[in-house]
Amino acid sequence: MSKQHPDAESVGTSVRLPAAGAGAAESISGNRNGSTPGAATETSVDDVAPAAPLPFGGLAIDFSNDIEVGAPVAPAPLPNLAIDFGGPAGATAPGGPGFTATGEGRTESKLLIVGSGPAGLTAAIYAARANLEPIVLAGSAPGGQLMITSDVENYPGFPDGIQGPELMAAFRQQAERFGTQIVDVDIDRVDFSSRPFRIWARGTEYRGESVIVATGASALWLGLESETRLRGRGVSACATCDGFFFRDKEIAVVGGGDTALEEATFLTRFASKVHLLHRRGAFRGSKIMIDRAKANPKIAIRLNTAVDEVLGDAKVSGLRLRDTQTGETDEVSMQGLFVAIGYRPNTDAFRDWLEVDDKGYLVVHDETGSKIDGVFIAGDVHDHRYRQAVTAAADGCKAAIDAERWLESQGITEASTAGAW
Ligand code: NAP
Repeated sequence: MSKQHPDAESVGTSVRLPAAGAGAAESISGNRNGSTPGAATETSVDDVAPAAPLPFGGLAIDFSNDIEVGAPVAPAPLPNLAIDFGGPAGATAPGGPGFTATGEGRTESKLLIVGSGPAGLTAAIYAARANLEPIVLAGSAPGGQLMITSDVENYPGFPDGIQGPELMAAFRQQAERFGTQIVDVDIDRVDFSSRPFRIWARGTEYRGESVIVATGASALWLGLESETRLRGRGVSACATCDGFFFRDKEIAVVGGGDTALEEATFLTRFASKVHLLHRRGAFRGSKIMIDRAKANPKIAIRLNTAVDEVLGDAKVSGLRLRDTQTGETDEVSMQGLFVAIGYRPNTDAFRDWLEVDDKGYLVVHDETGSKIDGVFIAGDVHDHRYRQAVTAAADGCKAAIDAERWLESQGITEASTAGAW
């Protein structure tokens, strides 16, 4: 039986709530896409149309003054990041996914899904088709990391590539088509001590006979104001996504782990020079990756070096660096900065209930299970190895099938539904 949501309205099958207040808890994130750069070709500035679309998730990067190296023609622009996922006109408050609505929605389901990246929404598609009528607690910035990614060229089925937000809007529509209810809220806390499992979000209690946790992971940032301001204007956290836009440019990678070593090596395919900056005197990454970076003539390693400031107004023009031993600072000219200081899985609400490994990721048992029967895990929140949209989606599919089979084993669903995928 379904309860009605006390203060939200059904918008299609989406429930839209007021924007999260200051007290909103963990932000839900989906999965990194592993997109490749757009099919841009280099051309002269004059060839760039005024409405030239932009890389970096539509956040402006402007190479138009770099006449010597040629301004890349960026891929098609992202739709507004505050993409409207299909509610009636006027349902979305101007300027973002904050919603003003009153009305009703379900708060009980056979399956609650937390997270709305590729893992969460794929789980929803499968679960909805199995008549589980899932509720997705999607986060106040729904869609996950693909929402800030421009061209996705490695998601199968799109030979010409697709914009990240467009792909996620399609995931969402497909999930809703089969009866998923999606609520764009961050969750505050959970109680998995007994069934139905309980999850609180913005003051509302949701109850589910089973749960899929698909909250993803978020890239870590240095925390500089200038880094935030220039994100998408030469600052990136995804070499696979944005490396292409730095062809023949001099750039830096900050970090001392395997991600930084790997991204620095990868970026030498495009950049003329990659400066690898690490705050300590020794790398944290594996020996083979360190040796590979050291052997690469396009990588210049600078140890005991911290980034104090990203320089530039409209785009990155340099970095202010600090010697972490002497405290001396210097400014270097640089056209891009890749931050590769690790990822943080979005596990805060679950840490009291589920196992985490030594890197902070959730531990899965038997593909998608957790230590609690009926609670399943999918996507980047447990996967620090692949971190791809397609692997996260596959994980979501597996978790939904496992949840359905488990519900059937408990007598909560009819035997006939499981397996009819
Ligand atoms: P990581 O191993 O935690 O390394 C993060 C690096 O960033 C560290 O060197 C750290 O410095 C530095 N750092 C952290 N915060 C910083 C800050 N505020 N300012 C400057 N530097 C900062 O993270 P990771 O490199 O993403 O790797 C995560 C895991 O994934 C590791 O187990 C890694 O082996 C694995 N991984 C494997 C592969 C592969 O096998 N191909 C590729 C990527 C990642 P300190 O060293 O001083 O702490």
